[in-house]
Amino acid sequence: MKIAARTVAEFHYTLTDDAGTVIDSSRGSEPLAYLHGGGNIVPGLEKAMEGKTKGDAFKVDVSAEEGYGPRIEALLQTAPRSMFPDDMAPEVGMQFQAESNMGPVMVTVMAVEGDTVTLDGNHALAGQALHFDVEVVSVRDATIEEMQHGHAHGAGGHHH
Ligand code: ZN
Repeated sequence: MKIAARTVAEFHYTLTDDAGTVIDSSRGSEPLAYLHGGGNIVPGLEKAMEGKTKGDAFKVDVSAEEGYGPRIEALLQTAPRSMFPDDMAPEVGMQFQAESNMGPVMVTVMAVEGDTVTLDGNHALAGQALHFDVEVVSVRDATIEEMQHGHAHGAGGHHH
């Protein structure tokens, strides 16, 4: 069975950056399950998965545009330190969810200087080329419920 729209595939992956540094890997834990055509994974990887079958192993280079998108400088903003609750001292590298006019976004503290905190709402991997090393573990038809939800259920997928 080939990966196509309305199939659920499980796969192992190792993600590296341009320098070859491992950013993330499913090796040593459960493979990731996703609904093909559901936009559950970055577009460049989803495209490369099309037509693959169980046991296929391949590498794919994904541009930032087909990955987590370009960095948007407008998402780099400063805020007064007083915005943080008393029991939460902002520290560089700290991540938290914040409301934006595009909905909730993950924000990373980039700098703390005096009373000013610099926040970055870009995805940590925005603007970066991504290099995936992939092995397809299984391919099956999606259930009606999965198609309605727009994501895979069960091992490696959503639990709810
Ligand atoms: Zn669901």
